[in-house]
Amino acid sequence: MTLAQTFNAALAGIASTPRQLLIDGRWSDAADGGTMVTINPATGLPLAELACGRAADIDLAVTAARRAFEGPWSATTPYDRQRMLLRLADLIEANYDTIALLDSLDMGAPITRTQAGRHTAPQLVRYYAGLVPTLRGETITPSVPGAPFVATLREPVGVVGAITPWNAPFRMCVWKAAPALAAGCTIILKPAEQSPLSALLFGQLCLEAGVPPGVVNVVPGMAEAGQRLAEHPDVDKITFTGSTRTGQHIIRASAGNLKRLSLELGGKSAHIILDDADLDLAAPAAAHAVFQNSGQICSAGTRLFVEDGIHDEFVERVLAETATLRMGDPLDPETQIGPLVDQTQKTTVQQYISTGLAEGASLLAGGTDVEAEALAAGSFVSPTVFTGVRDDMTIAREEIFGPVLSILRFSDRDEVIRRANASEYGLGAGLWTQDVSAAHALGRRLRAGTVWVNCYQLMDPAVPFGGYKLSGYGRESGYDHVHEFLETKALWIR
Ligand code: ADP
Repeated sequence: MTLAQTFNAALAGIASTPRQLLIDGRWSDAADGGTMVTINPATGLPLAELACGRAADIDLAVTAARRAFEGPWSATTPYDRQRMLLRLADLIEANYDTIALLDSLDMGAPITRTQAGRHTAPQLVRYYAGLVPTLRGETITPSVPGAPFVATLREPVGVVGAITPWNAPFRMCVWKAAPALAAGCTIILKPAEQSPLSALLFGQLCLEAGVPPGVVNVVPGMAEAGQRLAEHPDVDKITFTGSTRTGQHIIRASAGNLKRLSLELGGKSAHIILDDADLDLAAPAAAHAVFQNSGQICSAGTRLFVEDGIHDEFVERVLAETATLRMGDPLDPETQIGPLVDQTQKTTVQQYISTGLAEGASLLAGGTDVEAEALAAGSFVSPTVFTGVRDDMTIAREEIFGPVLSILRFSDRDEVIRRANASEYGLGAGLWTQDVSAAHALGRRLRAGTVWVNCYQLMDPAVPFGGYKLSGYGRESGYDHVHEFLETKALWIR
């Protein structure tokens, strides 16, 4: 079957998923009747037409979320919320084939990748369900006269705006909504305009799980909708994942009412291979660290630092691994590399590749052309490897968000830590060595929110993830995450 034929056959699988806005428990068109069309990036063909929310729709959703927060939702007990989240996890599991299909069609991730969420998405929801009854304050004995009683109460922060990117559409909804609901907040989800469909299904599953109207609202739309959420005076918190530039906009827009912010932003992660590393494991890991999801991962290991003694051999191994990667139809289970999310992103990535060449890096794989004619209409970019990259080159400094690996050479371990940390980002870092002392000594010195030693990109609901420096603030996953949605009140009683 051609790409277009498998695409047409798959459309039936998503035909009955929602296409309207979810506000106050009801499905509705946008206030101005506006719609938008999402494109299948593998074929360039239209995928679905759906309602496009604007500022007026966000205002309605905020009103509904406030009403629900002050009404029925505040009356739920921890066990009520836990039960709803557990039901939601079961529903996500039961509907996972459709969810995976939606994300693969909408943003182009290979179906084996989106299918992997069958386990991780329900795990995340169940992790937060488990935390709900454990949330508690403390009692304090103050030294002030009169022996007043003091307790801290952990209260939900209120109405939360969740603005998500396109690189992992459904996972982002779960990652933001589950801890918010566990904490007792209400939420307005604004998914990325490139891949909004699975967020709408998430909203439907929340309703089926018994989440009351207005607690979870889903308003797909363009930047305008996100901007309105960020500036809205009755939104208490924004949780955002996306580019650093948009994160900075959100900080400014949210200043009016001093919103609480969690920002998971860009990255330019260093991946360091010492000469005593197990190369059989490290070389495939180095390729996958940057090429999975076609490089559209904020913690992708895009700066690969290789120690002198193994540099040439390691480059050969990474190239051999890269050559095995199969690019093609995201719906084909054999495919490892799908298209980029859209033509705009493809053009951006191609410009970075041209800049790498112009600044003198050596192109050893990939490049701006995709040879396979069948892929010409999609936004495909081949896995691309540059060697001879210097720290001051554009491709070594800026986040590309595409399948482009920069290999840099080093000879001194203090020097490589300094160079790795010289980035303005600090999201992830990787280190490969069989020397446990080096793992401790160097791993601790890397300035990043996550350091993976002898592995890369592992994630778990219980392990916090987030950035240093321009990669943002706040942590997602783990016990800390739910606290991002809570305020602390000190209650004094005499
Ligand atoms: P990308 O990862 O595509 O570079 P962005 O960081 O711009 O994207 O987008 C991530 C999310 O932020 C999307 O849902 C997008 O619509 C939203 N967004 C874009 N611009 C703004 C803005 N000025 N204010 C709030 N949200 C925005």
